[in-house]
Amino acid sequence: MSVRNMPCICQKCQMEIQHGFDVDNVPHLDSEFTLFCPNCSSEQVFRYKDSKKIMAERKRIREEMELREYVKSLAEQYGFRCSFIYQSVTITTPCGSWRFDYHKRLKHLMHESTYKYNLKTGNESFWHHQFDRKMSIEEVIKYIDNHDKATMRRKSMKKEKV
Ligand SMILES: [Zn+2]
Repeated sequence: MSVRNMPCICQKCQMEIQHGFDVDNVPHLDSEFTLFCPNCSSEQVFRYKDSKKIMAERKRIREEMELREYVKSLAEQYGFRCSFIYQSVTITTPCGSWRFDYHKRLKHLMHESTYKYNLKTGNESFWHHQFDRKMSIEEVIKYIDNHDKATMRRKSMKKEKV
């Protein structure tokens, strides 16, 4: 388990302590939380100290939210839904789902097709690696749209044959 050390201020005595939070459980920047204050010798309400670290953290969060908004607005232009998990976005289209880390220039693109690969065994769809390419977020979403259109064309051609 990794820990993030944050400077915190006791709201009763104003003493500053460094507290290591479990990275998955770090309180929100503007929140109040309870910690043991060695000066008060009791549990007290604490807030983060408004340090450079906290301001950098606020900036990082704001930039992350802006980046997510940007990805979301691009996806919505094509009528795709998206959800964010850690560093990655999952984009869901009528033909399947796609996942990549939208922070990196080199896009490691994963694909889960809704198309059943084996109609005899009825195997479920699964994630596979599509490619690693240096491209912008916009280019990836355009690629997904083109891939969808090609899948639709293949499916409608199959239907015509039957
Ligand atoms: Zn205190």
